[in-house]
Amino acid sequence: MNTRQFLGLDDALATLRATVQAPDATSEAIPIVTAANRIVARSVAAPIDVPPFAASAMDGYAVCAADPIFRGDAPFALTVHGESRAGLPFVEAAPVDQAVRIFTGAVMPTRCDSVVIQEDVERIGDSIRLSVRPRAGANVRPPGHDVGRGAVLCDAGARLGPFDLAWLTACGLTTIDVRAKVRLALFSTGDELRNAGDSLAIGQIYDANRFVLQQLLRDAPVVVTDLGILPDDPDRIEATLWDAAAHHDAVLTSGGVSVGDADYVRTIVERLGRIEFWKIAIKPGKPFAYGRVGDCHFFGLPGNPVSTIVTFLMLVKPILAQLAGGRADAPPTVPAVLAVDVAHDRGRVEYQRGAFTNVEGRLVVEPTSDQSSNRIGSFRGANCLIEIPRDSGDLARGDAVAILPLTGLLS
Ligand code: AMP
Ligand code: MG
Repeated sequence: MNTRQFLGLDDALATLRATVQAPDATSEAIPIVTAANRIVARSVAAPIDVPPFAASAMDGYAVCAADPIFRGDAPFALTVHGESRAGLPFVEAAPVDQAVRIFTGAVMPTRCDSVVIQEDVERIGDSIRLSVRPRAGANVRPPGHDVGRGAVLCDAGARLGPFDLAWLTACGLTTIDVRAKVRLALFSTGDELRNAGDSLAIGQIYDANRFVLQQLLRDAPVVVTDLGILPDDPDRIEATLWDAAAHHDAVLTSGGVSVGDADYVRTIVERLGRIEFWKIAIKPGKPFAYGRVGDCHFFGLPGNPVSTIVTFLMLVKPILAQLAGGRADAPPTVPAVLAVDVAHDRGRVEYQRGAFTNVEGRLVVEPTSDQSSNRIGSFRGANCLIEIPRDSGDLARGDAVAILPLTGLLS
C-alpha cells in the first residue's frame, strides 16, 4: 500500500481545528443540575464570598490572640462565654480574656481571630486551660477562603464537570448560560445492514456502528438525530444527506466511503458540496472523509466497526467539542512498556486495542486478541489504545510506547 499520499493524523486534526468553528454563539440558560458536560457560553464570576463570613476550620475555642491574658506563658486559664455552632452563630463580641466554644464551619465571634483546637484544651465546667499560645489566624477560614467574590468560577468554552457544578452551586447559583448543543444527524449505510431485533437473511449483519456511536456521543454536547440505516442506493443517500445537511450542524455516517462499487457516500458529498480530505494515514480507519455540504460538516467514517470507533475517537470527538464551542483537546497519553513483540508496517499510525497493568510502578501493556478492524471483540478486556507511530517499524517486548487509556478517551 502506498501510504505517502495519505494525510497524517496530526495534519488532518490541524486542518479540522482550523476549519471547524462553532456557529455564532447561541446560548441558553439552563438549570445547573442539568448542565453536566455542557459548554460554558460566558465566563461566570462568583457572586459572593465562600464562605461568606470568617469561619472556624476546627472544633475548639475561639479567642483573641492579642488579649492581655496571653502575654505570659502557657498554660492560660480562661472562662468560656457562649457558643458558636455552624448555622447558630454567637452574636455578641467575645469579652476580653474570654473564649467562645466553637465548631467547624461556625461564624468567628466578633473580636476573635484564632481557634485553639479542643485537643489543646482542658475543660472543667466553664473554665478552660489552653496548653498552647493562640496564633492570630490559626484554624480560621477568612471570608472567600474557598472562592473570593468576583473570582472566575468557569471560563467561556469550558466543559462543565461535576466539580465546576459543585462550585457554582456552592456560590448559590441555580442556572448557567451554556452553548446550544450541536445538532448531529447520524446514519449507517450498507445493503447488508439490519437493526438488532430484526431477523437476518444470508449475507446480512447487524448494524453495530450507529449504536456504538450513540453510546460514545452520550456525554457530548450533541443532540443526535438517528436517521437509521440507508441502503446503498445513491438517490436515497443523496436525498437524505441533502435534507440532513439543511437541518443540522454536522452529519456523521459510517460505511460507503471506501473505493468499492457500492461506496457512494463520499462521491455524493463531493457532488452536493465538497470533500476536504479523504484517506488518513491511520490504522484502522484509512478511508475517513471530511467535507462540507453548505454550512454543514460531513464526517464519513469507514464501515468496519473498529475503524469507525477509532476514527470517531481520534478525529471526530475532539472536533465536535470544538464545534460545540469548547476545545478540541487531544486525548491524554501516558508512557508504557510493551509486554510482547508487536509487528507494525511503516506508513500509518496504528491504534491497537490493549490492556495495561501497573507492574511495580511501570505501566506494562499488551495488545488484546486479533486486531482485525471488523472485530469489536478486540475491545474485550481492553483498557487502552496502544499508539504505534507512523514511522515506526516492528516493536519488541520492552520497547516504550504511548498508550491512550480508555477512561481519558471516552470522557
Ligand atoms: P464499507 O466501508 O461500507 O465498505 O464497509 C466495510 C465493512 O464494514 C463491510 O464488511 C461492512 O459490512 C462493514 N460495516 C459497514 N457498516 C457497518 C455497520 N454499521 N455495522 C457493522 N458492520 C458494518
Ligand atoms: Mg458498505
